[in-house]
Amino acid sequence: MKKIIVDIDNTLWHFASILYERMKEINPQITQPSEWHDYFFWRSYLTPKEFYKVIKGIHRDQEMFIPYPDAELFLSSLKDMGFHITIASHREKETLHATVNWLNRYNLVFDEVHLSYDKSVLLDNCISVIDDSPVILEKAANSGIICCGLKMPWNDNGIYNVFDTLTEILHYLRAKKLHEAK
Ligand SMILES: [Mg+2]
Repeated sequence: MKKIIVDIDNTLWHFASILYERMKEINPQITQPSEWHDYFFWRSYLTPKEFYKVIKGIHRDQEMFIPYPDAELFLSSLKDMGFHITIASHREKETLHATVNWLNRYNLVFDEVHLSYDKSVLLDNCISVIDDSPVILEKAANSGIICCGLKMPWNDNGIYNVFDTLTEILHYLRAKKLHEAK
């Protein structure tokens, strides 16, 4: 099976803008997302307890947010290319219902949803990973997995490819001819 792992936050929708709004309510000093060059920037502004509470709140409210305009076509194109799509997100299991409802509401096609604190367990068994996390992208790249993500301030100088849109990622995957692999 040609498994592809697709992240949600900052991959299928712009999570950072809502994160910014909600972190600002707790600490008005928080800098704009364009300044978030360190993936762990939040540690300078919120305690882990505050930060994870904000994250969980956003995931609980998932259905309020709109995916990127090319997210639907991106996933349906992957399906047409014969991929088995695992949507993987670092989020609490109790937000599964909101997550699945959101995917269905916006016709975001998938085969399975994996919510956990460690999606690196999925890397053993896939041929491609789409994510914005430099931690995941680096792990995947070091394992020889074709990986890439949307270009963000926190991932723009890694050993992997990043792109401006999901459509560009789709072109990249097509050029790699992964879908023609046996
Ligand atoms: Mg993400």
